[in-house]
Amino acid sequence: MTDIVSTKKDTKNDYDAVVVGAGIAGLYAVYKLREMGLRVRGIEAAPAVGGTWYWNCYPGARVDSQSYIYQYWFSDELIQEWNWAERFPPQAEVERYLNFVADKFELRKDYAFETRVTSADWDDDAQCWRVGTDQGETLNTRYFISCTGMLSEPKAPDFPGKDSFQGIIAHTARYPREGIDLKGKRVGVIGCGATGIQLIQTIASEVEHLTVFQRTASYGVAMRNDQFDDADRDHWRAKAGELQDKVYNSFVGFDYDFEHGSWYDQTPEQRLQVLEEKWQEGSLSMWVGTYPELFTDQAVNDEISDFVRKKIRARIDDPAIADLITPQTHGFGTYRVPLENGYYDVYNRDNVELVDVRSAPIECITATGIKTTEGEYPLDVIIMATGFNAGTGSLARMNIHGREGLSLTEEWNKDIRTTLGLQVHGFPNLFTVAGPLAPSAAFCNMTTCLQQQVDWVTDCIAYLQEQHLKSIEPTLEKQDEWVAHHDEVANSTLLVATQSWYTGANIEGKPSRLISYIGGVNEYHHKCEEVQESGYAGFTKV
Ligand code: NAP
Repeated sequence: MTDIVSTKKDTKNDYDAVVVGAGIAGLYAVYKLREMGLRVRGIEAAPAVGGTWYWNCYPGARVDSQSYIYQYWFSDELIQEWNWAERFPPQAEVERYLNFVADKFELRKDYAFETRVTSADWDDDAQCWRVGTDQGETLNTRYFISCTGMLSEPKAPDFPGKDSFQGIIAHTARYPREGIDLKGKRVGVIGCGATGIQLIQTIASEVEHLTVFQRTASYGVAMRNDQFDDADRDHWRAKAGELQDKVYNSFVGFDYDFEHGSWYDQTPEQRLQVLEEKWQEGSLSMWVGTYPELFTDQAVNDEISDFVRKKIRARIDDPAIADLITPQTHGFGTYRVPLENGYYDVYNRDNVELVDVRSAPIECITATGIKTTEGEYPLDVIIMATGFNAGTGSLARMNIHGREGLSLTEEWNKDIRTTLGLQVHGFPNLFTVAGPLAPSAAFCNMTTCLQQQVDWVTDCIAYLQEQHLKSIEPTLEKQDEWVAHHDEVANSTLLVATQSWYTGANIEGKPSRLISYIGGVNEYHHKCEEVQESGYAGFTKV
């Protein structure tokens, strides 16, 4: 126990650590802090565990990382007991897995569900956070750990007339748990990112008519989703130690890496063979397992983009649709590459219509459908697959104030700055797992990044406890150093030129900066270790 608890009255609202979120990171953080002997309280807005995998229950939701690396490594027993059914599991299976973990380690008892953090204020005299909730409680805690996810605050464009629509409107990230009966309905989907693709390919055969409103086309890579039998599961279990080591030491937290050397060291025939092999693998290795120059060299990116465009065109019967559905506005891999499973074939169906809302934007939602500048589309259901306010959205909502009343939201409205994505100058003992400027969903297998970042946070807390320190916070200089490094790496890539959630371009007025660190999971891991090994040099400790 820390002295916040032991020197004060042990009231029911005094904690060592408050963890926000019961997704992959939050569950792990609660488990670890409790193992360290701390008094922990988890807070979760949903009525159950799961985080992303609770909220994103839209038809077709599925993980794009292979199950055998999309898991926790901390318990061998867990690895032995859990049986993955598929290479790329659907939402329900990942949600079951997280429930299994919560049961096995009795994590629910430390959570308050259906509770939202409404404020968090640093009390510099007491060296603790006062955390307010929508249940009217104020929790006192030394450490405030946000595990709210990189992509958790939905972006739902406020189209004029939205409230007048007489049918159902849903956002994929808040899809009704009981589902929506889409049979025989005229359904409109707005958005063709990773989410829209999964949704569209899943519902096209079920609905009477599907209208897809596409502004930007994505480069979908055909997924190869194998069903696992016991022999497969045993195979991957036996490799768990090796896989864990590999993902932490790879560029993107997957079990593959850039294994073919430089693009320029190979002949055109060799390059084509590599690209074909990667395509056949049916995974994100097509994106982050080919050549590193894909991300930095326009000529290389152009060639690989053309390779993928040809694969896409070959799937579409109608050349006019093929022109629209084949991405032209950005290069392959400069924005999240989705895996698809029958997505392009959907556009060969008679009941599916593609509407280009780049040339004719959506004007408004009417009582009976969607109106673009070129016409009106009658609909019974509208599903927005319009993405998220990434990285900053969920943290900004919590109304966090640090030293001298400094507002995190106001700071980030001006400029998004963090140290390693894990701490922010001016906000002692605030830890932001999957925060801005750390490797995250944009360029990391999430379970790898989340576990590594939770480990850093809990190791840091263990250090403070051992040293009898009350707080830690990066100096301004340390933070400037991290932001400068982050920007230098980001600006050397082609990613910063593509308009997407990666750069904040999907949210009006959001300061522009690559939201995730792209120097490599392996490099980031080393940098985090260096900070630890230096005794947190560049951090102010009280
Ligand atoms: P997204 O990539 O931001 O895509 C949102 C889509 O909505 C884009 O096509 C966007 O077009 C469109 N859109 C937004 N506002 C619009 C408007 N006013 N009018 C017309 N179109 C509009 O969001 P997402 O698909 O939810 O994916 C977000 C991230 O979640 C992914 O990149 C990925 O990291 C993660 N994800 C992972 C998985 C998985 O592992 N399987 C699945 C789904 C999502 P513009 O691009 O033109 O703005």
